[in-house]
Amino acid sequence: MSTLPFRSCLAAAAGAALLCAASVGVAAAFALDEIAPGVYVHPGQMADLDSPARGDSANLGVVVGDRCVAVIDSGGSLATGRALAAAIAARTPRPVCYVINTHVHFDHVLGNGAFVGEGTHFVGQHGLAEAMEANREFFAEQFADELDGSGGAARVIAPDDLVDSRLELDLGGRTLVLTAVARAHSSTDLTVLDRTSNTLFAGDLVFRERLPVLDGSLGGWLDWLDAAMQVDYARVVPGHGPVDTHWPEGARALRRYLVALRDDTRAAIAAGEFLEDAKASVAASERDEWILTGRAHGLNVSRAYRELEWE
Ligand SMILES: [Zn+2]
Repeated sequence: MSTLPFRSCLAAAAGAALLCAASVGVAAAFALDEIAPGVYVHPGQMADLDSPARGDSANLGVVVGDRCVAVIDSGGSLATGRALAAAIAARTPRPVCYVINTHVHFDHVLGNGAFVGEGTHFVGQHGLAEAMEANREFFAEQFADELDGSGGAARVIAPDDLVDSRLELDLGGRTLVLTAVARAHSSTDLTVLDRTSNTLFAGDLVFRERLPVLDGSLGGWLDWLDAAMQVDYARVVPGHGPVDTHWPEGARALRRYLVALRDDTRAAIAAGEFLEDAKASVAASERDEWILTGRAHGLNVSRAYRELEWE
């Protein structure tokens, strides 16, 4: 995919720098691929937290009904959200009636502000509104560029519709089934099933190629995954990495990593290993299997340690 490289921004003449900054990290040609009739995915870039492309690092989904359109995750910056909105407008004149967030992480929610308008509802799992409020100032400070500079806290848009356990959304001739998930990848996970195409948008409950990030419950995540792997979806859209058209094949590596994280952490705790030492030994076999393992793996071990220490 051709992107607007940060390097060319730095090399650009001073006069062009502003234009460049506004486009930082967003692909010049914003891809929105039709993966089934009326179902689109924007593939996020493999970008880490310190990359200028971090605001465009998550997969984003779009489902078009006869009446209106649903967006599933809006990206990690207003620029990404606006690029997504423009790509949708180029494909259909129907309005966006729902912006659904699969969880609270910045790369999935900071584009919400690009969709504020009459008749657009923001939808999330029951814990999402509170989690967005708890993160509002943090997002404004840490992602000021992604929120177009100072005053970004007001551009953090929390959901107005919350899903307790299950909610159906009618897009006109097409129904989305939203399911709230107990603590797994995070504390605010929500999946979206397009019944018409049997496509599941899994958010970050599924990672492919990029190292999974644990921010909820390891046991809960494995429980969700084991149940989901029994379901016959036509395709599953992960939060990061390529769409899986042979589900559950594409989830096997994720499961293998989570099991190694669990079993090796248990063994390290039983052996009385210190956490810092365990970071080097736990799931060492997985190191070369994933992209962007940097800090994430060590944090995963810390979280697994905290969770499993008390079982
Ligand atoms: Zn993510």
